[in-house]
Amino acid sequence: MKQSIIVLILPLFLYHCQPARTQEEASSEEFIRNVEAREDSLEMVKALEARLKVKEAVFPNAETEPVGEGALEDAADDPAFWYNQAQPEQSVVFGTNKKGGIYAYNLTGDEKTYYQVGAINNIDTRQGVKIGSDTYDILAGSNRTDNSIILFSINGEGELKKLLKENHRLDKLEIDEVYGLCLYKDAEGEGYVIANGKNGRINMYRIAAEKDSCYLLPHRSWKLKSQPEGMVADDIYGVLYIGEEQRGIWRTDLKTEGSEVELIPSSQRENNPFITYDIEGLSIYYGENGDGFLLASIQGSFTYAIFDRQGDNAYLSSFRIDEGPEVDAVYETDGLDIFSGPIGDLYPQGLLIVQDGFNYDGQQLQSQNFKYIGLDQVLSLRQ
Ligand code: CA
Ligand code: CA
Ligand code: CA
Ligand code: CA
Ligand code: CA
Repeated sequence: MKQSIIVLILPLFLYHCQPARTQEEASSEEFIRNVEAREDSLEMVKALEARLKVKEAVFPNAETEPVGEGALEDAADDPAFWYNQAQPEQSVVFGTNKKGGIYAYNLTGDEKTYYQVGAINNIDTRQGVKIGSDTYDILAGSNRTDNSIILFSINGEGELKKLLKENHRLDKLEIDEVYGLCLYKDAEGEGYVIANGKNGRINMYRIAAEKDSCYLLPHRSWKLKSQPEGMVADDIYGVLYIGEEQRGIWRTDLKTEGSEVELIPSSQRENNPFITYDIEGLSIYYGENGDGFLLASIQGSFTYAIFDRQGDNAYLSSFRIDEGPEVDAVYETDGLDIFSGPIGDLYPQGLLIVQDGFNYDGQQLQSQNFKYIGLDQVLSLRQ
């Protein structure tokens, strides 16, 4: 373990040696980005220690090509999955490069397409969403280039096509800097985009259409005290989960107008020794008969926490993602996504996709990427 800590710490150490000089040289925008990049992992050793308190582990089955911004750049952030119903093996994993766009990868991790559509932080997908008189598979993203929401349809080949004629710009007085984003499909099949800002404001919009033109209609709004990011909507139970990075996971009922947000006690560091902030990516596993779980990336310990989807969202267990025979371990995950059904023969019980903050090829640190983990591994931990 010692050696792997050194291998892991060294690039970070080198990185931390850089800022003073870099700052003086005042490539200021780049400096600010890099500080933000590693703001969640300054206490690397503590994170690795906390990680080892979690006993259960799964292993990556595959990984994507690196998000090519250099080994010390924090560029990859959040994945989203699109299931190809006609040819499941041709399903697509989308992953953000928060410096410039969205990658589309195949199920073996090869890059298919790169969409240079802005500094996209979070993305989410939904299938069979009613918009006007049509039904679409859609992908939405939070765009930090122009503080906007972007929205695409996904065609039968898994390609993105613009749905909004122009990016939906957000008022900076309301959402100061767009950050997290998720989608919600209600029981009638209508779609909603939910976006948050670093100032804690969360806005929900209904995806509406008039004639041939699609637009976002303000629907609901909430405010948290500090920075949120990861969010996920449970479409079946109509519940929105919001990760406030330094405080825990909140939930609110999307089916009841005016419902308050409430903090989930089991997701707070004060109540749960397996929570080390930040809380980052959130996703839902839809099990049979309303069963399943809420999964959270616990970035402060490089682990993943599982909560009940029902009742009080009780904490169930945690796991880590260790090095597999061909793919390196996963550290410091931001976004993650779960697909809850079989994907051909490749992933018979579904797929977990996670961002990897430190992507190694042997001893060599590469640009960040996304890892694929067969959901069967996670499900078997719970039996
Ligand atoms: Ca990161
Ligand atoms: Ca996502
Ligand atoms: Ca974050
Ligand atoms: Ca790794
Ligand atoms: Ca690797």
